Amino acid sequence: MRAGKGIVLGVVSLVFSCGLLLKIFQFSDAELENQQIQEPLLSVSAKTTIVDKTLEVLPGQTLAEILSLEGLDPTQNHLIINSFKQKYDPKDLKVGQNFQLKIQQKGSQRRLLSLVTRPTLLQELRVTCDSSGAFNSVLLERKLNYRLERASGNITSSLYADTVKAGIPSQIISELTHGLSFGVHLQRDIHQNDPYEVIYESYYDPDTKSTKPGSLIYAAIGIKGEPHEIYRYQTRDGRVGLYNHKGESVKRSLLTTPVAAVRLSSAFGYRRHPIKGYSQYHKGVDFAASRGSPVMAAGDGIVAVARHWGGYGNYIRLKHDNGYATVYAHLSKYAAGLHVGSTVRQGQVIGYVGSTGNSTGPHLHHEVLINGKHVNPQNVKAPPAARLAGLDMANFKKFVSKIKRETRGLRFNGQMALYTSKGVGDRTSTS
Ligand SMILES: [Zn+2]
Repeated sequence: MRAGKGIVLGVVSLVFSCGLLLKIFQFSDAELENQQIQEPLLSVSAKTTIVDKTLEVLPGQTLAEILSLEGLDPTQNHLIINSFKQKYDPKDLKVGQNFQLKIQQKGSQRRLLSLVTRPTLLQELRVTCDSSGAFNSVLLERKLNYRLERASGNITSSLYADTVKAGIPSQIISELTHGLSFGVHLQRDIHQNDPYEVIYESYYDPDTKSTKPGSLIYAAIGIKGEPHEIYRYQTRDGRVGLYNHKGESVKRSLLTTPVAAVRLSSAFGYRRHPIKGYSQYHKGVDFAASRGSPVMAAGDGIVAVARHWGGYGNYIRLKHDNGYATVYAHLSKYAAGLHVGSTVRQGQVIGYVGSTGNSTGPHLHHEVLINGKHVNPQNVKAPPAARLAGLDMANFKKFVSKIKRETRGLRFNGQMALYTSKGVGDRTSTS
């Protein structure tokens, strides 16, 4: 019971997404025991059956689509959606979100008896039909066993590879590489033996008897004796963000390193082309990374192009605010559900490193354009950081001191205490 108590926690953030498909929820073996698909539970009369069904939202799925695919009539759907909306915006459905439906089937008529979904790990939304046919919604708080997990170690190959090896869930790795990449060039600045530490939430769900990661709470990496830290903090008006120890938002409009890469292999400007052999202007930067490394959206935006594009191979172009666009080329594949028009969030995985098109080996070719003109991605100016103020700053400082007391290995008062690496990382739990 060290870090678990009293720490102000950020709300589990929702991943918003768009796309167009629906699929039946894929069950793991453990879940199969508890769930049934389209299996009549009991016969009310000879002709009335009650069907329990579990679905998973795929990219782009809307609540209206989910309901109409279940054969529910439009009038009923309208009432259900209205009731749903009173507690939760259906636009905020996230990919993978689970829906449990109980439907009464009488002849060809289908009537929804109940709908249950969990917008977050800690919330359960129930829409039920009463005897008059009206729908009522209620949002319940779920009680889950919660604890903080801690992982720490020294870099042996790369932040990404080492945190994977340390058993940190991919969702947390994505949050921490995203958060740290604002201030640190992950491919250039991090070296062997640099110490890192990560604290994140973990929830035990008694329903599925599984442990699920919550949010990243804290991450730090020491580079040349200098700590780079990020803290997750929720302001009093409910906004969740990542801050440095001074309470300044680490968020920038564009990430300089949209891949958890090992090194910058080719810079912006003139160079000798590895295939064509002659010097040409390199309109982007290349990051050497292993095949399959996740590629992240450098900023919030919309997918403008996602297709094979000549020498670029598998290619994504994102459109951002203020005339900015970013390009990601030679990908091995695209993230599931990504298509032209998809809205993406900064740090969201959009594809995977590969070597498609004119490429001599796995790497990410990355370009930044401002109003159609190529600029050096490494020089894109970041907007000034937002800073916490007032009571939020006071609360944040308390939170920072709490984290400082909890973290054992990294000493941030001018000297770095290097861990002796125990295998792939020293992982402990506090609850
Ligand atoms: Zn390139």
